[in-house]
Amino acid sequence: MVIIMLGAPASGKGSVAEILSKEFNIPAISSGDIFRKNISEGTELGKKANEYMTKGSLVPDDITVNMIASRLTEDDVKTGLILDGFPRTVKQAEELDRILAEKNRKIDVVVNLETPEEELLERIVTRRVCTNSSCKEVYNVVMKPTKVEGVCDKCGSPVTQRDDDTLEKAKNRLEVYHTQTAPVAEYYKATGALYSTVLSKSVNRMKNEVANDVIEYLKNK
Ligand code: AMP
Repeated sequence: MVIIMLGAPASGKGSVAEILSKEFNIPAISSGDIFRKNISEGTELGKKANEYMTKGSLVPDDITVNMIASRLTEDDVKTGLILDGFPRTVKQAEELDRILAEKNRKIDVVVNLETPEEELLERIVTRRVCTNSSCKEVYNVVMKPTKVEGVCDKCGSPVTQRDDDTLEKAKNRLEVYHTQTAPVAEYYKATGALYSTVLSKSVNRMKNEVANDVIEYLKNK
């Protein structure tokens, strides 16, 4: 099974991916997490990616595609995978089709999360994440605070704000999303794989409701 999570920053891609990952017992692969891991380890890839990430811009397609292509050669993706945050440009989507075709695989569904813009900005600036790369639990200072300030409930590691989760960078990331990533939804609409769905507190439809609908959809497909 191949699932793609599409949507703006902080639309809930990672949270829905986590539920789907448990349900189908397949790994959720976040391109942003792989970049952040490389940055914290000081690798060459991390250094290159950091130049773009600190501005809230996209890392160039060739770097990102190579990174994902290499991840998709690992054993754990044999039965299936969820991509969270990739592809983010039409070029990346085309390259992904090519990579999957070489492996005789194809995309089962592209889950496109639609969340109102004002909720996205609010969620970005109030988001906090666990710094332990094997935990990465996500918190929100308003909706889901840690029990002890700055300490992860799950593993006890420090919880911080991501460098690119500030208001100024978030605005740039949303702009990048509209210009470069939104056309990816059109690309998948044309292939018939697109499953667009609202995730918003305004209609009380959050990660669990969305994930359950995707699970139903995939089971009946
Ligand atoms: P995320 O954790 O998905 O919000 O990604 C954080 C940052 O990583 C983005 O703002 C980009 O700078 C970079 N990034 C993640 N995925 C991609 C991608 N598919 N293409 C280009 N840059 C990416």
